Amino acid sequence: MSLDDTPRFDTLAIHAGAQPDPTTGARATPIYQTTSFVFDDVDHAASLFGLQAFGNIYTRIMNPTQSVLEERIAALEGGTAALATASGHGAQLIIFHTLLQPGDEFIAVRQLYGGSINQFNHSFKKFDWNVVWADADDISSIEKAITKKTKLIFCESIANPGGLVTDLGAISKIARRAGVPLVVDNTLATPYLCRPIEHGADIVVHSLTKFIGGHGNSMGGMIVDAGSFNWSREGRYPTLSEPCESYNGMKLHETFGGIAFAIACRVLGLRDLGPCISPMNAFLIIQGLETLSLRMKKHCKNTIKVAEHLSEHKAVSWVSYAGLRGDRHHKLAKKYCPNGAGAVFTFGLKGGYEAGVKVVSGVEMISHLANIGDVRSLIIHPSSTTHRQLSEQQQIAAGAGPDVVRLSIGLEDAADIIADLDKALAEAG
Ligand SMILES: *Cc1c(COP(=O)(O)O)cnc(C)c1O
Repeated sequence: MSLDDTPRFDTLAIHAGAQPDPTTGARATPIYQTTSFVFDDVDHAASLFGLQAFGNIYTRIMNPTQSVLEERIAALEGGTAALATASGHGAQLIIFHTLLQPGDEFIAVRQLYGGSINQFNHSFKKFDWNVVWADADDISSIEKAITKKTKLIFCESIANPGGLVTDLGAISKIARRAGVPLVVDNTLATPYLCRPIEHGADIVVHSLTKFIGGHGNSMGGMIVDAGSFNWSREGRYPTLSEPCESYNGMKLHETFGGIAFAIACRVLGLRDLGPCISPMNAFLIIQGLETLSLRMKKHCKNTIKVAEHLSEHKAVSWVSYAGLRGDRHHKLAKKYCPNGAGAVFTFGLKGGYEAGVKVVSGVEMISHLANIGDVRSLIIHPSSTTHRQLSEQQQIAAGAGPDVVRLSIGLEDAADIIADLDKALAEAG
């Protein structure tokens, strides 16, 4: 089989973007632990700097280990090109820097990772990029939030912390009508569970730190360009449509077409803002990616068992997991995540705040920490940790009320995860 006749997901996860090393024959992707790359001659250097040729110059902008990771995720997501960054938040910064001017607005649905809520509410305000919040459970609130200044719509495919599934098709229709791109954070789903570009996303963003790396050992982010958006219509995205001063007046969209957004993120965003991924982390994340589908299958299988067990437990008042048949997001999960609803969900304790504190203290194998997407099972009580600065009302609005516990189910034996939780729940009363 030649890799040109559209290989399938598991084949791409192992082979896309990589060949044996041309000089040594090394089969695994080497860690190109170098800052810089020697030019063939002066003309070669000039063509690289002028964007007439693609090639490695300096690891802040491009590196062969990073390139393998980028090509592989672009292939798995069905995008035209991709760009790796130091973290998920670094990726978000570069996307917004490429698309927004000071004074612009963007719409984000409220059901988001807490770190993104902070980034949008506080740090992005300093650039005068102004968030307008909408509600994923009330699609009309998104349409109502659109103004002339809106430059993009942002949501998550499976939303943190409650494991809710977003109606990407409906939101993408609103984005199309408004002439703005839909940016989807696909971190909790990974391309194995959901491929947002197939549902109308124009840009996909990832924290590779979570399920794609998958082992809780390296930070990384990724931007995927769907190649579908017309950046030159109405001049609303001047970074892409207007002459670029730092490249001799080149117009990036006119020159690069369906990969223009990814190019702009690299040659302007990454070049000038600087959050590049290290070659070592790119290597570790490639290792994780190669077993993505095996891991996601087991993550989902374990999670449904734990969620079902908890929903029958007498100390538990509710479980929010779209993989459960009775869940209000189950239909959306079937449509957008047919292979499973992910491994992150929340549940509520009848004993409220006190019981939450006791459960996170009572577990032994499960780690009490602020991360998700590890081979290890993880637990957190948001109202005593990540959400403790918020008022009780704000906590409840964010799906992080005093009784809420969040789990990220790992790859241990489900029976051991359940036994550890049962012991902690018994102590919590
Ligand atoms: C963790 C996370 C991020 C931020 O990614 P970092 O790699 O921690 O910067 C963004 N979105 C979601 C859904 C996340 O879980």
